[in-house]
Amino acid sequence: MKADLLITGISQLVTAEGAGPKHGRAMRELKIVDQAAIAISAGVIVWTGRETDWKGEAELAVDAGGRAVVPGLIDPHTHAVWAGNRLADFEARTSGSTYEDILAAGGGIRSTIRATATASQDDLVALAKPRIDSLIASGATTIEIKSGYGFTPAAELAMLEAIQSLSVISPARIIPTLLIHIPPAVATERSSYMSQVCEELIPEVARRHLAAAVDIFVEKEAWQVAEAEELFDRAKQYGLAIKLHSDQFHCIGGLELGIHLGALSVDHLEASGPEQIVKIAASSTIATILPGVSLHLGIPSAPGRKLIDAGAAVAVGTDLNPGSSPLFSTSTALALSVRLNGLTVEEALVAGTVNAACALGIKDAGRLETECAADFLVLQSSDWRDLVYTLGTNPVQDVWIGGKKVT
Ligand SMILES: [Zn+2]
Repeated sequence: MKADLLITGISQLVTAEGAGPKHGRAMRELKIVDQAAIAISAGVIVWTGRETDWKGEAELAVDAGGRAVVPGLIDPHTHAVWAGNRLADFEARTSGSTYEDILAAGGGIRSTIRATATASQDDLVALAKPRIDSLIASGATTIEIKSGYGFTPAAELAMLEAIQSLSVISPARIIPTLLIHIPPAVATERSSYMSQVCEELIPEVARRHLAAAVDIFVEKEAWQVAEAEELFDRAKQYGLAIKLHSDQFHCIGGLELGIHLGALSVDHLEASGPEQIVKIAASSTIATILPGVSLHLGIPSAPGRKLIDAGAAVAVGTDLNPGSSPLFSTSTALALSVRLNGLTVEEALVAGTVNAACALGIKDAGRLETECAADFLVLQSSDWRDLVYTLGTNPVQDVWIGGKKVT
């Protein structure tokens, strides 16, 4: 066998095996090869195994120096494009102001919407680029980015165009999602906004391939189940996948709708109870949990342990956003899922790799197996468990994407 590149000197090569989501106990099954090597051609893995078993020829060899190698992380849930900041909200909240006080003072999510709507597209890209770079340095090689801070179809399209620009200038694989986030504040404007989304925005997004999926925030204070169903029907007509923000504060049926419609993932689940856990565990929809939100807002953590024990396929993301999760590290999100959601170290790695890939409908990443993209991390440590053990410093030494070292 001939290869462009051989990575040698790997103390442990650690990966989930086989495409498709890992449910329940299968989330603990990892393949660990000691003293391993990876052969790569044209950016794709062509061989892995014990270094002494490699019998081919490689044009170039790179020594990992006795360090552990894991798949590149997949961050399946971010809102990395925004303008303005929420520092005043943060200070007010830490000084005892309520969410309603902050909204009344002109803060909260609507302040992010105002700032994002008035920023130029170049500004949005320039603001988001270092955030993406930070996620990559922390181990993310595929990053989902949502729109959702626009109040008009034009503003949503501008956000998606900014995300498209980021995908050109960033080495990471960027997966764009159209998020229908917050309904108009005036109740009578809801149905006209929904018509604009259905008649203008979704068709235009599909025609220009600006998003792979449509996401809707289903919550008491946001979109209702019947509204979401109408919007999702339109998305499916146009061949877009669907995802939901649901069960963050209340269970109003968003999770059930997502499962019924075959959503790729239902995200948040902090408020999910035994009924919701049983339903998502019996489905093919990924349960994506976001521990950064629980840490930052002090809300209950999603029941990660119970979801896995019931047989669900759990993924973990940062939910990077200015209001509820200023978490710029994908590996820290995994570390938090162990502390806050009760995942084991093995489950956390699976949640941040192969299951997160499934939450985005991707089959060729999140694993170190032949025919997968050569997206992998060389850790600082010879023991892969340092990836989810470490807090406050970066456990990742080198990030490789498509067979090229990018950090
Ligand atoms: Zn979110």
